[in-house]
Amino acid sequence: MAANMNVSAAVNATLVNVDVLIIGAGAAGLTAAYDLKRSSDNSFRILEASSVIGGRLKKMPTGFADFPIDIGGEWIHDEPTVLENITGVEVEVETIPYVDSYVEWEDGEWYSYGYYTEDYKFVNYTWFDLFNDYMAPDVLDHVDFDCQVEFIDWSTIPVEVSCSDGLRYFTANHVIVTVPMSVLQSDDIYFEPALPVETQVAIDKYDFMSGMKVFMKYGERFYREAFEFASDYPYDEDWINGSSRYFYSATFGQDTDLNILGSFSVGDTYEPFVNLTNEQIFASINTQLDSVYEGQASEYFVEGYVQDWNDQPYIRGSYTHLDETPDEWDAIEELRLPLEDRIFFAGEAIPPYTYQFGNVHGAAYSGRAAAEKIMDLLGQADADLDASISRTKSGEALEHSEKTHGSPSLSSSSRRTFVSHPVVSFCLTMFASYLV
Ligand SMILES: Cc1cc2nc3c(=O)[nH]c(=O)nc-3n(C[C@H](O)[C@H](O)[C@H](O)COP(=O)(O)OP(=O)(O)OC[C@H]3O[C@@H](n4cnc5c(N)ncnc54)[C@H](O)[C@@H]3O)c2cc1C
Repeated sequence: MAANMNVSAAVNATLVNVDVLIIGAGAAGLTAAYDLKRSSDNSFRILEASSVIGGRLKKMPTGFADFPIDIGGEWIHDEPTVLENITGVEVEVETIPYVDSYVEWEDGEWYSYGYYTEDYKFVNYTWFDLFNDYMAPDVLDHVDFDCQVEFIDWSTIPVEVSCSDGLRYFTANHVIVTVPMSVLQSDDIYFEPALPVETQVAIDKYDFMSGMKVFMKYGERFYREAFEFASDYPYDEDWINGSSRYFYSATFGQDTDLNILGSFSVGDTYEPFVNLTNEQIFASINTQLDSVYEGQASEYFVEGYVQDWNDQPYIRGSYTHLDETPDEWDAIEELRLPLEDRIFFAGEAIPPYTYQFGNVHGAAYSGRAAAEKIMDLLGQADADLDASISRTKSGEALEHSEKTHGSPSLSSSSRRTFVSHPVVSFCLTMFASYLV
């Protein structure tokens, strides 16, 4: 055993041996666990650094609104059938189509962006609820909470893993790593031996963008359904570098009399909020809105709620962004490759199909793809799982990579254009820009 795995030296230390370890209990980790549970007899544990499941799926605490609000992943960037594809069972929840035409305030006028998306939103339900209601019950007793993995020794079989409390040690033949890219880019997890150069280069290609959601409650509805401010963008290429501050009516489709305006500041548009108190953030947003709505934001403001994703110690931002160049996109393919069939990477940054990048369902399917490869290795693959990985939205699918690390890349012709935006993931239709 490696020095860090000196279990006998630690008083009250535990050593657990399983077939599969899953690191992270977000959408990817929960789906991997759920599939292992449903389709195999393999033993597994989920090691989660925080004290809750969900990761970037989180619900607003009760008291602010009379309907549930996702303060992390919120839109369904696919057909609603994706919910049943993820859970593998009939899902009885209501969803509503969300067609957004991206209106922007520029030089005193409203302009259409010229882009349309076709998404869905939950009605009286959330992404967090889906994983909590349909998947967590099957896997919760396999989760080790408050277990921040700090060491992975994959030089041996089984792989050895330890948590930062120095009390919990694990061994497994296969490890699925689903932590956010921000964590992989830091020194939080020490790999022994170090990750291969190709893997590290791929990890470093990603931008993990800042992100904050702010919900503002008003006594009157004075704002339009969804909009942005051209002035929020430090660069002309805001969509190319992934930055955006998007305002939207959070009550869309909900049975409520409340007026709640959501906003999501990602990338550069997060910066103006750094070091501000919540009250200063509310004032800043109201000042911005007042400039268009003639003082009504300040006049009708009741209260606000801030979810700063940069502040979350095991997340540290919103989601990943890659420039749209073949060289950058290679990172996804590289990270799909298992290391010696021992270490498997999964998560929103590594979806099985590139157009699912940065999404909840892409993260879930990446966990499924990793679990499936492992079940293959252990002789327990379930063909149905593979078939359920969604192809509902049009777009070229990248084949699942069954290659091991270092195999040739898929051709760049199989890639699909991706525009990073809170509610833009696919299916963009461009029209001429016009005043609205
Ligand atoms: C504000 C915001 C808005 C979004 N909007 C949408 C949307 O509208 N639609 C959509 O589809 N997607 C959206 N997304 C993206 C979506 O939420 C994510 O892609 C998805 O939830 C990521 O899941 P994951 O499992 O890959 O990672 P995570 O959810 O980040 O899970 C990783 C887990 O690993 C844990 N962890 C970290 N370090 C360690 C460690 N050392 N040891 C053990 N555990 C560790 C973390 O605590 C976390 O629980 C949004 C994200 C954000 C933040």
